[in-house]
Amino acid sequence: KCLTVELGERSYPIWIGPGVRQKLADLLQQAGIAPGRKLFVVTDQNIAPLYLEDTVQLLTEGGYAVHHFIVPAGEEAKSLAIYEQIMTEALTIGLDRKSAFLALGGGVVGDLTGFAAATYMRGVAFVQVPTTLLAHDSSVGGKVAVNHPLGKNIIGAFHQPKLVAYDTNALTTLPPREVASGFAEVIKHGLIWDASFVTWLEENADGLQAFDHELLQAALLRACSVKVAVVSQDEREQGLRAILNLGHTFGHAFEALTGYKGINHGEAVAIGMVAAARLAERLGLAENISERTVRVLRQYRLPVALPVPLDVDEMLDVMRRDKKGEGGKLVFVLPTAIGKVDIYKNIEEEPVRAVLAE
Ligand code: NAD
Ligand code: ZN
Repeated sequence: KCLTVELGERSYPIWIGPGVRQKLADLLQQAGIAPGRKLFVVTDQNIAPLYLEDTVQLLTEGGYAVHHFIVPAGEEAKSLAIYEQIMTEALTIGLDRKSAFLALGGGVVGDLTGFAAATYMRGVAFVQVPTTLLAHDSSVGGKVAVNHPLGKNIIGAFHQPKLVAYDTNALTTLPPREVASGFAEVIKHGLIWDASFVTWLEENADGLQAFDHELLQAALLRACSVKVAVVSQDEREQGLRAILNLGHTFGHAFEALTGYKGINHGEAVAIGMVAAARLAERLGLAENISERTVRVLRQYRLPVALPVPLDVDEMLDVMRRDKKGEGGKLVFVLPTAIGKVDIYKNIEEEPVRAVLAE
């Protein structure tokens, strides 16, 4: 199945389904990356033993000159230090402006490799081969970045891929906690856009978590369609695209203050979406939505409260620095009903404190 991000000349396809990776060389060619060109495959230590060798082989057989680079697994790899290592390797192996970077991995590898591709020689072609459930979100839309100890995704760019090749067969090896993390963003796409998708996720929670392939593909297509629709309308987050950040202002603070370990991105977003629902209720913007938000997240084995207490003042500091904020104001995407959100640009500190202290 294929979706298209509509961006005029920069439109690109997202292929989703079992076995997509087997067709990678053909898909690259269709996307305008001709055989003979140098491909720089970046992946992480967990994914390399599972999928690197056969991916390199498929690409080599397809006529590409393939190099690869393995980064440590985990959020900490999204750093300027690892970014510099990638640049050094790219220069050492002689990549030029016609070369393409290929991210084989989850959101960490995707964001890091994409940022490297965006900046290497002022930008080279980039391809996403996602291997996590969460990456249905991160691989689409062209936001690429690394973290800074003082802020998540704070050093980044917009750099759209030429192609997203999402092989759902690769998801079978994901650890359970990463599966849950991925469902957080799937649920987010329902909560911001489509109440009937939330209901469908509630009804199919068991089948989806048992990896029923048809259900899984349906869920990913539906979640990706939301992302595609939003990004096609507002590539650079002038307005609408901000709704994708539901739960993220809170979530990014949780991630930064736990040192990007301890809780993963999806878990932080899950807890953040509950906080956003509670804040909306407290501000009188919505009624009775936190309870259902908590329930559906629990169905997917996601946490709904912080596992460790964090300092409220520090959280507020990080939230004010979050790049959605302007002039140090607190900006939140808040639900007004299940399936519907709005952007609020000047939220007072007091109710946020109250929610964080709950
Ligand atoms: P991740 O890339 O760290 O992957 C999670 C873990 O699973 C890692 O340990 C990884 O090695 C392992 N793994 C990956 N694929 C595997 C497989 N098929 N089998 C076994 N193990 C596998 O994390 P993630 O959850 O995919 O991505 C999180 C990141 O994505 C965060 O940094 C977040 O900020 C970013 N993100 C970006 C966007 C965007 O628009 N750019 C959107 C959402 C999230
Ligand atoms: Zn996210």
